[in-house]
Amino acid sequence: MDSLANAEHNDKDFGLKREARHGSSRAGRWPVQLRLATSLTSAEYVTRQLWHDATLERCPLHPSGGCSFARHGTYERVNPPGTQVPRWYCPEGHCTFSLLADCFACRLSGSLQELEEVIVAVEQAHTQEAAADELRADIELPGALRWMRRRLKPVHAALKLIVGLFPDLLAGCPATVCGFRQWLGIDFVLPALREIAQEQLVQLPPPVGLRPPWARGGDSKAPNQHQVGPDPPVPIG
Ligand SMILES: [Zn+2]
Repeated sequence: MDSLANAEHNDKDFGLKREARHGSSRAGRWPVQLRLATSLTSAEYVTRQLWHDATLERCPLHPSGGCSFARHGTYERVNPPGTQVPRWYCPEGHCTFSLLADCFACRLSGSLQELEEVIVAVEQAHTQEAAADELRADIELPGALRWMRRRLKPVHAALKLIVGLFPDLLAGCPATVCGFRQWLGIDFVLPALREIAQEQLVQLPPPVGLRPPWARGGDSKAPNQHQVGPDPPVPIG
């Protein structure tokens, strides 16, 4: 099991630790992220060390049992400092699972609230260049634009998909964070979408959704995922 823990490295681009690709049958895959339903902020999650309370009672690959599914420690997220994400491992399915709390962006450093502030700043700016310059004054403009678009594109793609998934609720709603805020009358849209679209999270792209990387690219290393249904919410906190 130590091979998995030791395989983690700091992904500088996204600022979070993940499992490295080793090419072995046991390590080398992103964990399958499942939803940990909570209304806590990321700071509260750390203060209360919510990962200790998180439980995943059944193996998502073998819900009837019969495998050696067990808790498999935690992995660390860089922001906020002290964040640990609980994970489980099914040896028979060669698959690691983790429970990602609603406050966190998926496969991206930081919280969904922080991400939402970035998206809103861009949506309200006159130009993307002006927003990027303002948001990342610490780096050159081309890098700031790449940083910003890595966030903007997948969030807007997820919002567009969600508008289509919920025509009764969202028909006519602009596929922007500002549009969703106004339409739904809520302060923070992205964490709320984990609840609203909980049955569809596995189909929605990160950082809003929890879609695994192999779901769009046909990764031959993908574990046997056909038995994994929509992410089961795990109410806590
Ligand atoms: Zn299993």
